[in-house]
Amino acid sequence: MSQSLQSAAISDEADAVLIADIVNRIRSVVQTPDSVALHEPNLGELEQRYVNDCVASGWVSSVGRYVDQFERDLARYTGAGYAVATVNGTSALHVCLLLAGVGRDDEVICPALSFVATANAISYCGAVPHFVDAEVRTLGMDADKLKNYLSEVARVDGDRLINRVTGRRIAAIVPMHTLGHSVDIAALQETADTFGLPIVEDAAESLGTFYNDRHTGTFGIASALSFNGNKIMTTGGGGAILTNDEKLAARAKHLTTTAKVPHPWQYVHDEIAFNYRMPNLNAAMGCAQLERFADFRDRKQTLASRYRDEFVGCQSAAFIDQWENESSNFWLNAIWLPARSQPTTELRNAVLEATNSAGLMTRPMWDLLSDLSIYQSCPKSDLTVSREMVQRSVCLPSSVCLVAGSESGKTQ
Ligand SMILES: *Cc1c(COP(=O)(O)O)cnc(C)c1O
Repeated sequence: MSQSLQSAAISDEADAVLIADIVNRIRSVVQTPDSVALHEPNLGELEQRYVNDCVASGWVSSVGRYVDQFERDLARYTGAGYAVATVNGTSALHVCLLLAGVGRDDEVICPALSFVATANAISYCGAVPHFVDAEVRTLGMDADKLKNYLSEVARVDGDRLINRVTGRRIAAIVPMHTLGHSVDIAALQETADTFGLPIVEDAAESLGTFYNDRHTGTFGIASALSFNGNKIMTTGGGGAILTNDEKLAARAKHLTTTAKVPHPWQYVHDEIAFNYRMPNLNAAMGCAQLERFADFRDRKQTLASRYRDEFVGCQSAAFIDQWENESSNFWLNAIWLPARSQPTTELRNAVLEATNSAGLMTRPMWDLLSDLSIYQSCPKSDLTVSREMVQRSVCLPSSVCLVAGSESGKTQ
């Protein structure tokens, strides 16, 4: 990985120089002597106006014109056929998995390198996450490695794919677009087709990321977006399901609104479902954020190019750039630290320590989900690459407000 980085010798003195160099470069990119957050929301007058209007209307809960408008605007921006707004990204993913037919005692292929919500949503279905490895190139699921792995571990039984070891059905593949970077979705689609598996995309981090000019989250049978406070745009808390399938969209709406059969006054619910509908109040904020989204995305591109320029030719770290088939939203910028012959988290932790104490908020990627006590006993493939990625990466300050905008949004 990152061939440009020499395998640096391990010496405390050399490490101290390397760490100081990284701190200086980040400081130079953020262009402020103040403390900076990892990722803060950017809220301004427009958000205030729409939220005030929503409060004044009295329609603050699960019905209202902002929810409908937000869904229309999301579908238009992403090019998805349909968007269904939800209370958060995790609930969106839960419903996507149900749409894909995931059920009790199924297994679902997902990356070990992800936020816990990916595996939790699988668990909510009574299914078991089955963790697979990532590739350095895209930060996401490695389609070739997955193909080889499934050829070994799975057998076809009629129209079902069975894990030879556990005997459980493998029901779906859930790739995640890591830090906003698109997975190689075409390669994954080929692998999925080989084994007859549906793809559900965890696109929680990738609003504004395109794979060959097509928006991420529009390839699988359904996908989940998140509008949590730390994402590229926020509704306070919120999420959405994207799909191109009219029937699945209707089913998503039904499942997220307690399966209430439309009727002027009767309470008929035709299955046990969920109260996952996004409130109008949150959607009001979402409409404002989406109107400003093109500006957010431009500023993220600018920030990424500042990091790119700052770290070009640098021996201390390499900027994690977009790969050839994507146009990334650069939700979270990140760097690779030099490879060591005995990879550990030691250098990474020292960089995290130094940057955070210098007022530059940085974070590691997640610990592998397969290492969490709650998921330790789940099936998994070899995870060597994911593990090294965790050891060698540091996420950098990436707020929209670090770049001056074309309009005056209040940023603090
Ligand atoms: C944020 C996130 C989610 C969940 O979104 P919430 O809105 O916080 O529920 C799911 N998957 C990934 C990869 C995320 O980053």
